[in-house]
Amino acid sequence: MKLSEIEVGGKAVIVKVAGHGGFRRRIVEMGFVKGKVVKVLQRAPLGDPTEYEVMGYNVSLRNTESSRIEVISEEEARQEATRSKSGDTADRIFVSEEEIQSVALRRRREISVALVGNPNAGKTSLFNVISGMRERVGNYSGVTVDAKETQFDYAGYKIRLTDLPGTYSLSAYSPEERYVRKQLVEERPDVIINVIDSGNIERNMFLTTQLLDMNLRMVVALNMFDELEKRGDKFDYKSLGEMIGVPMIPTVSTQMKGIHELFDTVIKVYEDEEKTVRHVHINYGAEIEEKIVRIKSALVDSGVTFEDYTARYMAIRLLCRDSEVEQHAHERAQNTEYEKVVTQCEEEVKAEFKDTPDNVIQDSKYGFISGALKETYQEKEKRGGKTLTDKIDAVVTSKLWGYPIFLAAVYIMFQATFILGKYPMEGISWLVEALKDLIASGMPEGMLRDLICNGIISGVGGVLVFLPNILILYFFINLMEASGYMARAAFIMDKIMHHVGLHGRSFIPLIMGFGCNVPAIMATRTIENRNARMVTILIMPLMACSARLPIFLLMAGTFFAPQYAGTVLFMMYVIGVLLAGIMAKVFKKVLFSQEEIPFVMELPPYRFPTFRMLMRDTWDKCEQYLKKIGTTILVGAVVIWALSYFPVSHGDMTPKQQLEQSYLAKIGKAVQPAVQPLGFDWKSTVALITGVTAKEIVVSTLGILYDDDDQGQSLEWRMKSELKPDGQPVWNIASVLSFMLFVLIYVPCIATLGSIRIETKSWLWALFAGLYTIVLAWIVSFVVYQSIMLGMWQEVAVAVIVLWAVMRITQSAVKGLRRKNSQCAGCQGGDCSKCK
Ligand code: GDP
Ligand code: MG
Repeated sequence: MKLSEIEVGGKAVIVKVAGHGGFRRRIVEMGFVKGKVVKVLQRAPLGDPTEYEVMGYNVSLRNTESSRIEVISEEEARQEATRSKSGDTADRIFVSEEEIQSVALRRRREISVALVGNPNAGKTSLFNVISGMRERVGNYSGVTVDAKETQFDYAGYKIRLTDLPGTYSLSAYSPEERYVRKQLVEERPDVIINVIDSGNIERNMFLTTQLLDMNLRMVVALNMFDELEKRGDKFDYKSLGEMIGVPMIPTVSTQMKGIHELFDTVIKVYEDEEKTVRHVHINYGAEIEEKIVRIKSALVDSGVTFEDYTARYMAIRLLCRDSEVEQHAHERAQNTEYEKVVTQCEEEVKAEFKDTPDNVIQDSKYGFISGALKETYQEKEKRGGKTLTDKIDAVVTSKLWGYPIFLAAVYIMFQATFILGKYPMEGISWLVEALKDLIASGMPEGMLRDLICNGIISGVGGVLVFLPNILILYFFINLMEASGYMARAAFIMDKIMHHVGLHGRSFIPLIMGFGCNVPAIMATRTIENRNARMVTILIMPLMACSARLPIFLLMAGTFFAPQYAGTVLFMMYVIGVLLAGIMAKVFKKVLFSQEEIPFVMELPPYRFPTFRMLMRDTWDKCEQYLKKIGTTILVGAVVIWALSYFPVSHGDMTPKQQLEQSYLAKIGKAVQPAVQPLGFDWKSTVALITGVTAKEIVVSTLGILYDDDDQGQSLEWRMKSELKPDGQPVWNIASVLSFMLFVLIYVPCIATLGSIRIETKSWLWALFAGLYTIVLAWIVSFVVYQSIMLGMWQEVAVAVIVLWAVMRITQSAVKGLRRKNSQCAGCQGGDCSKCK
């Protein structure tokens, strides 16, 4: 009986809740748990909703919801009790709650299972081998559109098995597709067995991705596994099952192989869903995902409810113009506002991709499948025709060419960024100076002029000049992303990233970090796993962003011979990446040690990105950068200007003397003892402090501080000739390296800290990122400065290498021991190297 059929005042016990995962979870969270007693309190005047009491709480449910809850009523329990006591002819009047509960528990042991799969995957063979029936195997699609049913007892359960017609998809284009989807939604089987032909996994899994979208409880039967083995292909189906969140069981239905395990798993999934299945969202790419979110919220606004389909599934299908889902939504919506949103989203997709949403989503699904199989499936011999994407991938992701191609791509990107960016950069720089001169000549001398010229224009202008570089960098990043190459780069980097406990998916945001940490941190949203995402965010500041480049250029160019400057610069990036790797490992161990959930790295087909889409994304990033300039950097520049301007000087002071008595100098001098062991004077200390607002400001602060009385000398010359009180030059190789490393590592800028706060939803993590980077920067700079000053850098370098080697050796020894002692449950005596 359904809960909606129980009369007011009646009592019932819950057997189970049917429907998709999201719906079931919500109902169960309200307290409608198997075996619990529900009392029907009252119905609203129009008969809907109804108020229930369950587990001591009053909750009201709509009838569409309560009709999905299967219960045992008092009446049913009474009949059952009367029937079971033969001879007890008089109807019993009283049944206890315990009696209803025990009937409910018995009823719960009936599971309805449906077989879904492509034609000729072996569904009917599976059905026959279980039922002992002789249904005709080898049906032809389109001949029969109906379901056959059988019942059998297994492991204390009664299983009702339905054989559904074969279908390639659930898109409601053919009668079979429509029929099967209707069965799944209206009959709501407890568990679905998705039967897959193991000889044709790629094509068969298309249907699987659609079932994943629907969030139904399921198990995959990898049927015809005998043929896969005969071919000698290698298939790590356990990993694949973990990636897609659905258990996969190999079967040979014609020989009754794997059938027990299959139904054991069905029961496990039914009884202990939390532990056996995990709902995976297939990622359709930022563009489509954004539209899905918009349609979802439009559906909610129009009052659509989601008992039959999840909101996400409805949004996807509406975007694809699925007429049945359109009808379904139309019947439930209170207004048609959502239709406008769907139409708008559809138009946008068509404009951006020059293709229908249906095709774009289909491509993503195949990208998901080929990514999943690339990691888990190895064909012994190549079969079948190859698409253009396959051919490109064979080169781009190959062991031999993969990394060189990737390095070349990154090299071209950086070169283009700096070479092409140089010209507009000079232009902007010239404009900023011209503006400054114009205002300086047109305004009377005084505080206001100083604020506008030296505070606002210098501060903001100094950052604005990097806009062209950032534009070009993002253009390249977007180009790689939209064409599908970035997914391959992430794919080949996956193994390397695993060494530091991260995934390939963290790779794209980290690369973006070389441009600017702020959008890079936002880009970590594509990492579904929270731990991996947190670690990626925390190590992001170690990716040397483009704002640090001018500082590196200045220092390396001034203090190193031209033939070494480039190497020093390159070393900074390398050290940043190495430290990021080390810190990722540390954070992973100490803060986020929870076990990783594997996931699929999509390999979408290559496509030519439309110019419009590229430009829009690039502009989005620039807008964010301009916003940062207009807000954080503007405020920072004004604050630093004020600190350097006050207290106002009296009499005729040179700008240098004025600065030396300013608050900024006082702060610098107060902090300097803490960084004395790193070789910094108070001026570089001030520059570092101002750099917290934005790293770009460091150079301009140095420019102000190393101002000299005899005008006209370059900043390089001025820095070189600055002497310490003891007559030694302030800047030598040791202090220059120490300073560069400190700049590389210490606190990211305010904007980055702000985005860490937004993305982690906590100031604490932002504070933590700020603190750990200072500590790390101090340690690294200290070691480098002191070891060079004491003439011991060779010894220190050897010590570091030895320490590292010892650690690696102990680590692998411990790992080896552990592996020897305990085979993990996943491998069950097999090869354990895959999962460790
Ligand atoms: P359906 O369309 O999904 O119902 O598939 P059928 O059950 O009609 O099977 C299609 C063909 O595959 C039949 O010829 C079966 O004998 C064969 N078949 C089914 N299961 C297996 C299996 O596990 N191994 C092998 N080798 N053949 C199978
Ligand atoms: Mg069949």
